[in-house]
Parts: sequence; structure tokens; C-alpha cells
Amino acid sequence: MSDGLSKRIEGKRDDLVALTQDLIRIPTLNPPGDCYREVCEYLRARLAPRGFDCQLIRATGAPGDSDRYPRWNIVARREGTRPGDCVHFNSHTDVVEVGRGWTRDPFGGEVDGDRVYGRGACDMKGGLAASIIAAEAFVEEHPDFAGAIEISGTADEESGGYGGVAYLAEQGFFNPERVQHVIIPEPLNKDRICLGHRGGWWAEIETKGEIAHGSMPFLGDCAIRHMGAVLDAFEEQLFPAMAQRRTAMPVVPEGARQSTMNISAIHGGSEELPKDYSGLPACCVPDSCRIVIDRRYLVEESFDAVQGEIVGILEGLKASRDRFDYDLREINRIVPSMTDRDAPVVTTVAEAVREVLGKAPDFVASPGSYDQKHIDRIGRLKNCIAYGPGVLDLAHKPDEWIGITDMVDSAKVMGRALEKLLT
Ligand SMILES: [Zn+2]
Repeated sequence: MSDGLSKRIEGKRDDLVALTQDLIRIPTLNPPGDCYREVCEYLRARLAPRGFDCQLIRATGAPGDSDRYPRWNIVARREGTRPGDCVHFNSHTDVVEVGRGWTRDPFGGEVDGDRVYGRGACDMKGGLAASIIAAEAFVEEHPDFAGAIEISGTADEESGGYGGVAYLAEQGFFNPERVQHVIIPEPLNKDRICLGHRGGWWAEIETKGEIAHGSMPFLGDCAIRHMGAVLDAFEEQLFPAMAQRRTAMPVVPEGARQSTMNISAIHGGSEELPKDYSGLPACCVPDSCRIVIDRRYLVEESFDAVQGEIVGILEGLKASRDRFDYDLREINRIVPSMTDRDAPVVTTVAEAVREVLGKAPDFVASPGSYDQKHIDRIGRLKNCIAYGPGVLDLAHKPDEWIGITDMVDSAKVMGRALEKLLT
């Protein structure tokens, strides 16, 4: 890379740490979605004096948006001096709940050795800070650059992204006419490039029964036994079939290179009795049983096939099992997304990793999902990757931290990528 840019980024090490600390100290907890306005104002105060045109956009009416918890987003754009591509860095500003087991202040931004600690340090305020430093250093080094740089801070990634990237995509912010390259600095490690993620389908399945006295179950119809038949059919047909399907996506960990399904909840029959209730339960045949399924599917599978396979099992039971009836309610649908290995943003960042770190990057895909799904499906922008500092395994854990040297190195990679794309 140009020595100048590398030195500039090195010189901003303290600034990068302070920026990360400041971001951690704004407790953007989601749910419920706190302090989104504050973090956007902070980013505007940082970027506007550096020549970025800043727009604050509230995702009015998005899931979770209310006057008490408005879903604020920021898009900051710095124009170059001549026409060219636009490179967009997208970071989510929300963090998950603190949870138990911390030995550091989760919102203190404590620095210890080469680490900054705090909720969101790794997922992903460290990545956001690194992209800001990379962009600022690049603009100072190459004031005559072509095209444009955008930095967005978006809400709600941890709860589906509907009040964040999905909303911005619907407003045209990720239109390929406007933006050509997207880098999402999620914590995938500074030497890995994440090409995409698997798809998902969350649904609730309810089996129906008929309430009756528990001493005469033959006068009713037990919804829990019907659900037992559903679970048996899943064990016999669905799980073995899913285990056969392997993806060409480089998903890590490797166990997620097949189709998977989690059954994340089951509820049936009478409500659980309050802990402080000392009486006995009443005897009833349950007339309803519900499960929530979390089916993760591969880029090689179609959504219709994934849904059809489960509906087929339920319809089969309806045809073969006396009095079997069910409802199926979709909760969420995630399209799988996978950027080509030879897409421009992939090859550019890969070269930048090689030049800065002296090694070839690993290409990976995510078992879960992140905001790439909205950029792909709604924005119709395919040239998108996740690349950023941090150890993914630390995300959402107690004593979450981000490595300072890792942030500096990944900022150099991002800066080098900007040099390749915009000069
Ligand atoms: Zn994240």
C-alpha cells in the first residue's frame, strides 16, 4: 500500500481507540433500541466537519419503531473530485443485552493492553471505528479521489435489520446506481472475507385438539399427541434428508455446511402454574400445542422447496392420522446470500489483505445472517462482503473485547481497498 496511508493510519491509533471507547459508551441496547439518536448525532458530529454530508433517517413505522424508541440511522457521504464508484461501509450501531458474567464495565470502554472492552466492542463498534479511521486517512492522503465514500450506522441488525438496512434499502440507499461496493465490518477476523450467509425460515406450527376432562381423554383430542406425531415425522423424514444436503458455501463452523433446523420452543396444554401457587393443576385434554422452528437453508436450496418439504410432512399427517389438523404461521424469512468469489469488492479486499498482512485471506460464509440479506434482496446489490476486525466467537459474550492492533490492521486493509477502488 502507499506508505503514506499506512503511516497515517498508524498515526491515528490513539484516535481509533478513543473513537471505539466513545461508541461503546453510548449504550445502544437492542431490544428495546436505546440511544440510536445519540449514536447518530455522535457520528454526525464526527463526520460532518470532515466533509461528509450526513443524513439522519428515522425508519418510521418499521417493526420496533416508536416515539419512545425511534429507529434512527445515519448515512454519511463524502464526494470525490471526479466521477467514479461509491464504496459504502455499513455498520450496525445496536448491541445485544449485557447478560451475566462480566468482570469489566460493559459500557466503560476500558482499555487493557491491546484490547478495548465493552458490549459491542467486537460486534461491531470496533469495526465501525476502523472503517471511519480508514476513510478519514484515505481522504487526507488522496484528497483528489474519484467517486464517493459512504459510511452508514444502522439500527436493529440484532433484531432482523428491518428498522435499519432493510428500511434504507427500501428508500433506495443501496441502489446499484448509487452504491457499487459494500463492506460490512462485522467481526470476521482481519484475515477473513465473508461472502454471505445461509437462508432462514422461522415458523410456528400449531396442532389442534379438543378440550375434555383428563379422566376421559377419548372424549377429546390431544393436541400434544398430534405434535408428537409431527416431531416423529421430522426425526424420520426431515432431519435425515437435511443431513444429506451439503453446500458449496465456505460456511464456518463446518457443521453448518448442511441444512439444519432447530426447534426453538414448544408450548402445549394448560399454562405453567405460577411458582408461588401451591395448588394442583386442573385435568384437561390440551386443545393446542405449538412449536417454533428455525430452519436454516443453503444457497443451493429454494425457499419453496424448504417450505414445501415441511408442509408436505404436515399434509401427509393430515391424510393419514385421524383428526389431525394444524396451522402454520410464518415468523421470518431470510434469503441466503452469497457474493461471487470474483466480484470486484471480493478480489479487491483479498488483494488488500495480501498486501497489508502478507497472507492470502480465508473465504468464509456465516451460518447465521447479517444485513447483507437486505442489501442483496431489497437493494439488488450483489457486490457486498463482510470484512472487519474482531473474533466472532466473542460476539454477545461477557467481557467482549476488540484488539487494537487488529483494528489498525483492518483499517489499513480497508484504506488499501479504497486506494484500489477510488484512485
Ligand atoms: Zn454484528
